[in-house]
Amino acid sequence: MEPVLQVDSLSKRFGSIVALDRISFTLEAGSILGLIGPNGSGKTTLLNTLNGLYRPDSGEIRYLGRPTRNLRPHQLALLGISRTFQTARVFHTLTVYQNMLIPLVHARLSRNEVQERARQLLTFVGLERSQALPASELSGGQQKLLEFARALMTEPRLVLMDEPFGGVHPEIKALLLERIREAQRERQVSFIIVSHEIPDLMSLARTVICMSYGRIIARGTPQEVSENPEVIAAYLGHPGGQGQRPATSLEQAGGHAS
Ligand code: ADP
Ligand code: MG
Repeated sequence: MEPVLQVDSLSKRFGSIVALDRISFTLEAGSILGLIGPNGSGKTTLLNTLNGLYRPDSGEIRYLGRPTRNLRPHQLALLGISRTFQTARVFHTLTVYQNMLIPLVHARLSRNEVQERARQLLTFVGLERSQALPASELSGGQQKLLEFARALMTEPRLVLMDEPFGGVHPEIKALLLERIREAQRERQVSFIIVSHEIPDLMSLARTVICMSYGRIIARGTPQEVSENPEVIAAYLGHPGGQGQRPATSLEQAGGHAS
């Protein structure tokens, strides 16, 4: 099967900062890729470039074989690339249900179809009984569930998730992990998931890549990457990141947060 995403020598600068430095990787259809790296290493910039918020300075992105570097986020959303954010971006004054309708306002689908999809997905993430509440009344973790459900409204082939588990209650995190796996298994959705939590990535992703200063410094299984000396050095040696490192299962047992 054709890869869902082929990224070739992608670069992005902000003034003198090289946020992405010749990033290349391939994402096979129906697979989950984990993305780690110290703060400021370029993870969010990579997602922003892949979903059309930023235009790369050079390099190529192919989504299902089609070059996408000149497309905007709403165009990519209609082609099947969805996105969630480090801090959930939901509309606080709208209800949970109304938030679900937003990705499809311009889609040529019947009202019934959109409503049915929204109801199914809210049930999928356990928010069906909160659908009439303003989104502001949800906890931070529930907002992340809502954002995930909303990202599935367009029936995407690829979902980009920026730190979906950060600061999320363990019960909600367990549900989110399960639903991501289910979406991958049963709907053939591919994911790129930014997280510092190696144990979570172990349960999701066969492959992890680690970025540092805009470059990919390691790729392999979650275990291999978390044990890679260059990866550990990048986390320890990063300015402002003293003691910050990918959370291993041992640390997590001790309640370490990254
Ligand atoms: P991460 O998500 O890994 O923490 P980012 O992608 O947010 O890292 O940032 C990578 C680098 O690019 C950082 O040095 C950051 O300050 C810089 N950067 C990110 N976005 C912008 C922007 N819009 N304007 C200027 N610099 C930016
Ligand atoms: Mg980030």
